[in-house]
Amino acid sequence: MVSRNSKKTKCPSCTGESTLRNSRARSTKERIIKAITWFELYRCKKCGWRGWKTNIVLEQKAIKKIIIYTLLMIITAFVVYNLLRLVV
Ligand SMILES: [Zn+2]
Repeated sequence: MVSRNSKKTKCPSCTGESTLRNSRARSTKERIIKAITWFELYRCKKCGWRGWKTNIVLEQKAIKKIIIYTLLMIITAFVVYNLLRLVV
């Protein structure tokens, strides 16, 4: 459902391709963000931009599947709820 796309590492500042390099966390806050989220610290070789980027992209197909499963679950819950009401 979730795929890692390492090719999409464009610099948001100078839009240079493959100029981004992983940057080390300088503070505790940055280390915590790195540990608990999917974001990574990057630094641009070309323009010196430094910031957060995520390489996780949620596919449209996966979103559709999630919606269908959620709907099915709601319908099932509704049916079960009504059946239980009829029995009791
Ligand atoms: Zn740049």
